[in-house]
Amino acid sequence: MDDCIFCKIIQGKIPSNIVYRDDEIVAFRDINPQTPTHLLIVPVKHITSLVDLTFKDAALMGNMITVANKLAKDEGIAESGYRLVINCGKQGGQLVAHLHMHVMGGRQLSGQLG
Ligand code: AMP
Repeated sequence: MDDCIFCKIIQGKIPSNIVYRDDEIVAFRDINPQTPTHLLIVPVKHITSLVDLTFKDAALMGNMITVANKLAKDEGIAESGYRLVINCGKQGGQLVAHLHMHVMGGRQLSGQLG
């Protein structure tokens, strides 16, 4: 996707702070962190949103969660706790139209969702 900011990050066309990369996943630091640790995990292939996933993507999503767990350990927040968030669509609060999982932690998070 030519006009996708996360595709450009994956392709190295715009700068980012990448913390993990494999054949199907890239993770980088959120440019506007809401928590001391705030990472974004994205699939290399352009998937617009959570709603576009099919059963064929089940392994990819499993990998994204497993990588989130690894990165939480790397960041030192696995024991204290962290939150994974996927916003989907306009009312779900999704601003960037490339599927991404937020990994957030490093402080006490609110019990409120939404
Ligand atoms: P969402 O509201 O779930 O779509 O979240 C999009 C996230 O992408 C926000 O937390 C932004 O701060 C983050 N973001 C937008 N542009 C960039 C960028 N160039 N590098 C890193 N994070 C970004």
